[in-house]
Amino acid sequence: MTLDTPLRSIVGDRTAKVLDSALSLRTAGDLLYHFPRRYAERGRLTDLASLHVGDHVTVMAEVMRTNVRPMRQRRGQLFEVVVGDGRRSLTLTFFNQPWRERELRPGRQALFAGKVTDFRGKRQLNNPDYQLLDGASESSEEVAEDFAGRLIPVYPASEKIASWKIAQCVRLVLDGLEALPDPLPDALKDAEDLIDLDAALRGIHRPASVAELDAARLRLKWDEAFVLQVALAQRRRIARLAPTPPRVRVPGGLVDAFEAALPFTLTEGQREVAAVVDADLAAPHPMHRLLQGEVGSGKTVVALRAMLTVVDAGGQAALMAPTEVLATQHARGIRDLLGPIGMAGELGAAEVATKVVLLTGSTGAAARREALASIASGEAGIVVGTHALLEPDVAFRDLALVVVDEQHRFGVEQRDVLRAKGSQPPHVLVMTATPIPRTVAMTVYGDLETSTLTELPKGRSPIATHVVPPEKPAFLQRAWAKVREEVGAGRQAFVVCPRIGDAEGDDGLLVEGDEEERRPPLAVLDVFPALRDGELAGLRVEMLHGRLLADAKDSVMRRFARGEVDVLVATTVIEVGVDVPNATVMVVMDAERFGISQLHQLRGRVGRGAHAATCLLVTEAPADSPSRARVDAVAATLDGFELASLDLEQRREGDVLGAAQSGRRSRLRLLELLRDGELIVAARAAATELVEADPDLAGQPVLRSAIEAMLDEERAEYLEKG
Ligand code: ADP
Ligand code: MG
Repeated sequence: MTLDTPLRSIVGDRTAKVLDSALSLRTAGDLLYHFPRRYAERGRLTDLASLHVGDHVTVMAEVMRTNVRPMRQRRGQLFEVVVGDGRRSLTLTFFNQPWRERELRPGRQALFAGKVTDFRGKRQLNNPDYQLLDGASESSEEVAEDFAGRLIPVYPASEKIASWKIAQCVRLVLDGLEALPDPLPDALKDAEDLIDLDAALRGIHRPASVAELDAARLRLKWDEAFVLQVALAQRRRIARLAPTPPRVRVPGGLVDAFEAALPFTLTEGQREVAAVVDADLAAPHPMHRLLQGEVGSGKTVVALRAMLTVVDAGGQAALMAPTEVLATQHARGIRDLLGPIGMAGELGAAEVATKVVLLTGSTGAAARREALASIASGEAGIVVGTHALLEPDVAFRDLALVVVDEQHRFGVEQRDVLRAKGSQPPHVLVMTATPIPRTVAMTVYGDLETSTLTELPKGRSPIATHVVPPEKPAFLQRAWAKVREEVGAGRQAFVVCPRIGDAEGDDGLLVEGDEEERRPPLAVLDVFPALRDGELAGLRVEMLHGRLLADAKDSVMRRFARGEVDVLVATTVIEVGVDVPNATVMVVMDAERFGISQLHQLRGRVGRGAHAATCLLVTEAPADSPSRARVDAVAATLDGFELASLDLEQRREGDVLGAAQSGRRSRLRLLELLRDGELIVAARAAATELVEADPDLAGQPVLRSAIEAMLDEERAEYLEKG
């Protein structure tokens, strides 16, 4: 038996079907890498206070008393079992199963699994599955073997298969498994004191002690960190060695003209990063740089300067943005900033000038043909677009620089498709406004060097953020009064809702929690007419969401940018990059429905000009709830890095990093990017060292195939997503 052996041939058809349908586990390897979520300790009962109604739970508890009584409404008998943790109790109910009485005697301890329901204020499990732990059932020997030690694995719950059934299957696999090839180099295992893979997999599923479990987890975390870091180190090495023509700054060109015409002076940080980028571009191998910075810190200006540098040097630059709204706005913003030097071929162009071309999914056929021609001829120095840039018929004459905005929405593969359009390997600059803690950046963008813009351009007023709680309706009226006041003073406002409100898709709605009876989140399609005809009557109110046609979206944004719209009621389509410095107030409805980083991103849409800005987070979340705590956290600080860390702690990595990274995250089962920072740093150092000494991993065949398997999986995911 190997990791590839189908479960069918190990655990039988029926169980294999359940494992597949409930948990997508198909092979021995799938099951072995389905790690326990936690461990119950024999004799230590689950704290019943922590159970929530609606959750599917596995608890260890002791039978306190039992009771059989006839049912009132229908025929039959009800067997009630009260179990406890020493302090609290939980009621189990079984219908017409008299034999249960023999097994569930007072004093017995067992694992119970089922869905928590509420019956007249008492929490209970109806018809739970259970597994006795003290040798009282017919299958007691098996139990003793399944749970060898004091620690009993509890697997991620599923209603279709109980945790202990999974444990039984795992035991079958572990019993029959051949010795596993180990991807970690021996020297590394020695240096870091790591156990073998085989021992680690046994230790994580069937630990005899806490020490054994810890050793197993440590070793398996190293697998996750190291394999990825070696792949990234190889990527960095290849990039570093690939030759590409240096794109050296040309005096008297576009960059000089741009800097001379800029209506503001660059911040210290912008100048520093610009110098680093200049040096990168002038080197004979491609730049791979991540530029992160707070919303509004001026990343785009730095990127534009880099684009002009390569155009001066005879090349072209492409800027890819995740949405049509953003791409369109970038194109417009760039044309505005460039003025006459961005008008090549038009009346009024400067002597030294280039052409800016926009290409998106909704570019019309004729315009598209024209755009493609000027991209292919090199006439278009700067090409801005969405995924549309990745289409095979988009060919550049000499693509020298790829800029990717808001990278967390794109995958590495997409970056690579655009890169491949260069006749020589192009330079790559990735911009992200989501602050990324260092070890996360190392994992997700580990093939990039990192620069950070920390200061905001001068003259920005800080954003005052307030939570508007539901207890006081007057607060909400004050929020609308504030909007009116700002509009009266010539400013503009955003009102953000979590949802569009039509039957189909929504823009990035986050569903928090599992409360079933909550009202649906507020929707643009409801809030917009209500405000227009109610609280904000008389103001010029419009709406923006992802399901408007591209033309309509663009027209609304354009009019908002020109100040012809006072209030924009929108979904999170305005989350990234939208830049209207005159907007000074934002009201976020149902704020608890958004993630921390998302709220921070949204808030960054105001306070981009010289006027004081306000962000009002309207929430009905109760004062002591976790959702309210998230909203409060956003109100308490403007520090994006702090909020990103908080966000990661609360939500786990994948949600923060976005869908594009979910594949990579799903392979990180144990590694926690924040808590395991030291391990990640050590793994990166070890990986770099190994790749320097043995670039093709000739001496590490197992590691090499582990990396190939990981990259194949990433490619497959990319192809699936299309
Ligand atoms: P980011 O892309 O980091 O969110 P942008 O580059 O879009 O930020 O800049 C935000 C706004 O600030 C834009 O209107 C831009 O023109 C302006 N800006 C950029 N750099 C400066 C600066 N050094 N001084 C004043 N305003 C600036
Ligand atoms: Mg930007």
